[in-house]
Amino acid sequence: MSDADTLFERIIAREVPADIVHETETTLAFRDINPQAATHVLVVPKTRYRTVAELAAADPKLLADVIATADKVAELEGLTAGGYRVVFNTGSHAGQTVFHVHAHVLGGEQLGLFGR
Ligand code: IMP
Repeated sequence: MSDADTLFERIIAREVPADIVHETETTLAFRDINPQAATHVLVVPKTRYRTVAELAAADPKLLADVIATADKVAELEGLTAGGYRVVFNTGSHAGQTVFHVHAHVLGGEQLGLFGR
């Protein structure tokens, strides 16, 4: 990456505190600081790619690791029975603010519809 480190590199490096839910060799899961559902956890690969599209093109195995960690978080947080949502915001129209790819894992209540 040529641009500055993001907040999430600093969380991965343990320079910024986070409420960590789960960790694997290649991924880290921690609670979103501004939850949009009863349960809201972010899953990041430890290697930085800006977007899910970049990650998918460069390292599909690592993308699979991110999804597997999201599913593990759902299990650990008791979301599996009721269902949950996994979202990758990509670019400014989607509201992406941190350009280190991350999956949002949302659940624990009935979620609203997508859209504006
Ligand atoms: P994005 O809008 O898809 O890029 O998501 C970035 C997310 O990071 C938002 O949901 C923020 O609430 C979350 N966030 C920002 N700072 C922190 C933090 O320090 N810890 C945990 N989550 C954070």
